[in-house]
Formats: sequence, C-alpha cells, structure tokens
Amino acid sequence: MRRKPRGRLFFAGPGPTNIPDSVLHATAHVTVDFNDPEFLRVFQHCVIGLTRILRTTRATELFLYTASGHGAWEATLANLLSPGDTVLMLESGYFSDAWSGMARAFGLEVQTVAADWRRGVDLGDVTAALRADRGQNIRAVCAVHNETSTGVLLPMAELRAAIDAAQHPALLLADTISSLASMDFRMDDWGVDAVVGASQKGLMLPTGFSFTAVSKKGMAAQQRAMLPRRYFDWSEMLQRTHRSFMGTVPTSFFFGLQESLRLLEEEGLENVLARHARLAEAVRRAVDAWRGNAGPEILCEDPARRSNSVTSVLLPAGHDAEAVRRTAMERFHVALGGGLGKLHRKVFRIGHLGDLNEPMVLGTLGAVEMSLRLNRVPHARGGVDAAMAFLTDGQEPG
Ligand code: PLP
Repeated sequence: MRRKPRGRLFFAGPGPTNIPDSVLHATAHVTVDFNDPEFLRVFQHCVIGLTRILRTTRATELFLYTASGHGAWEATLANLLSPGDTVLMLESGYFSDAWSGMARAFGLEVQTVAADWRRGVDLGDVTAALRADRGQNIRAVCAVHNETSTGVLLPMAELRAAIDAAQHPALLLADTISSLASMDFRMDDWGVDAVVGASQKGLMLPTGFSFTAVSKKGMAAQQRAMLPRRYFDWSEMLQRTHRSFMGTVPTSFFFGLQESLRLLEEEGLENVLARHARLAEAVRRAVDAWRGNAGPEILCEDPARRSNSVTSVLLPAGHDAEAVRRTAMERFHVALGGGLGKLHRKVFRIGHLGDLNEPMVLGTLGAVEMSLRLNRVPHARGGVDAAMAFLTDGQEPG
C-alpha cells in the first residue's frame, strides 16, 4: 500500500475550499440555545454581513438552510414556481444540467438555451428565446454565474440587459455558489430575484449550509407558487424567530461565518476580488506556458469569460486527466478537482478561491507540472516561472 505523503494537504479543488484556522476554531464552539439572545445577535450580524456581500440593500429576504447547495436550488424552485411552469435554463455545463434535472423532477418544463461548454451561452439567444415566448410561459431564467465544471463565467450585467431587451417579466435566478466572495456579484444592480449561495467556497466554511436571497418581486411570486414544499417553505420560515431555517439552527456555522465575514471585511471585498483575479491570472499564465509543445490548455475559449475562482485544464487528446490528478494526490498531496460529466478524464480543475495566497498557488502549479512530466503528458516547461513572473514583474517588494 502506498504511504500517505507527509506535509500538509494542499487542497486545490474548486470547493470545498481551505478553511482559515481562525474560522475552524470559531466553529468549534460549545453548544448554545439557538434562541438565546446572544446567539440571535451573532445570527443577525451574519445575515447583515451576507447581504453586504450579495450587494443588496433593498428589501431582500434571506432564507438559510441546513443543506448543501443542492438544497438551496431545490428551495428556490419549490418556492417560486408551480407545476407545469417553464424555466429557461442557460446551459453552462455540469451544474446547469444538474439544476435542469432537478427542475424536471419537480414537474417543471425546462427550455434550454444551448451552449458550447467552452464558451457559455450567446446572450442574443437568451433575448431571442424570451421574445419568442409570446404567451409569457417562461416564469424564470436560471443562470449559473460561475460554472464550476468548466471555469466559464456568465456576464450577469449583460444577461440582465439581454432579458430587458426582450421586455419579458421572467424572474432571474442566479447560482453564485462558486462566485460569491470571489468574483463581483451585484444582486440589486443586476436585478436578480433569487440568489443561491453555499458555505463551502468563497465563504471559507465547512459544507452544510446554503441560502437564497430573494427580491421583492421574488417574494410576490412566492405567494402564487404552488409547488409542494415544507422543509424549504419560505412562508413557514418567516414565522420563525430567525425568519429562516426549519428545525434546529446549526449554531456552530454562525460562529464560523461571523469570523469568515470578519476576515473578508478586514481584507475588504474589493481586495478579496482583486486577490482572486491576480491568483487566477497566475494560474492561467502557467497553463498558457504548458500549452507549448501541444500541451494542456485552458478549457474556456473566451478570455473575457474566464473564471477567477476555477480553471479547467483540458489535456491533449489521448491523455487521462485522472492519472494526472492521481499523481498530484498520491505523490505530492495536492488535491485537484476532477472533470465532471462529459468532461470526466478530459479535464482536471485547479480551484483558486477562498483562503489562498501566492505560495499555495505556486505549490499547486509545481505539483501539477511535475505530475504532467511523470505522466508523460506533452507540455512546455516553465509554467511555474510564468506564474511567478506575472506575480512579480513590475511589482514593489512590500
Ligand atoms: N452549483 C454550483 C455552481 C456548484 O459549483 C455546486 C457544487 O460544487 C453546486 C451547485 C452544488 O452544490 P452542493 O455540492 O453544495 O450541493
């Protein structure tokens, strides 16, 4: 049996992500009564902090669930729609497919705006689909802001403009699970009616809680929506002290969230986003260097849509991304993300979001470059150098 590599596990998947030590310590809190006034203050502080990260000041309701992101997807569909309603799903990759599957399971009609997974949707196709819907059967447009399987970002401001151009009243539902607190997201400015988020990525927390932020228009739609729901029923939740959660509130998460929000605010959201942009570009420079000699390449073909939280790396035909991933884990103790759905074995994914800095990224890139060599995947050397050059050229030492 192979010995476990020594040294700290470098977790370089696109979520869950690394949890800062201070957040880990904060979650290790003794049990408290979730109705205790002191805990309610912590909870309220977290709700306000989350709305700041969502960049919403309007009368947005925030519903939280003890569930991973799938739970928030389900809650959002079940509260906003009725059996037989049509949703317009913007294809982006594995996660838009999975959200579609869930919508169908709930008896919704799913109309898909098809897209190449290497580029994401053409926004003109979104306007065209909405214009063609003369009976206004489409109740919601579902968009994955950052498709974690491909590393392709959907420009939300342009999506808003594309919907407005069709003068269609559909709700806009956005999944920000792998973009929130890593890339710019503006609920109010972009007129998003329901935002789905989860704990284990940019918020740097363990997996297990997720949420939906809902606009006034969304709350009005909820009054009419007829899909069955109970655990996730927002009307039930509004009756409760926390205006959220059915059942026991997972208090330890909120001690952790209080600390992760403190860290994000101490750094400043703009600086957090800039750090993600810088580290993502370093990763892209490395992959672009490896691309020489017919090597691996960035899956996303549109430079303007490249994600700052994850890069999917496409291997040359005939080479197995899982073998590279296995070597990275078994030899170097570096965990990369695997290819999902039809990308299985074709890509591996480098996550660059959350509690991350330059040496962590360079360590990961070094392990990837060595794993490419060991697996005899053609590539040009010098990916780590290219990343270091990007991170230092023209910079001051301080
Ligand atoms: N949506 C996106 C964009 C994701 O990246 C994920 C998970 O990685 C999900 C939805 C599903 O979330 P969860 O795995 O927390 O259920």
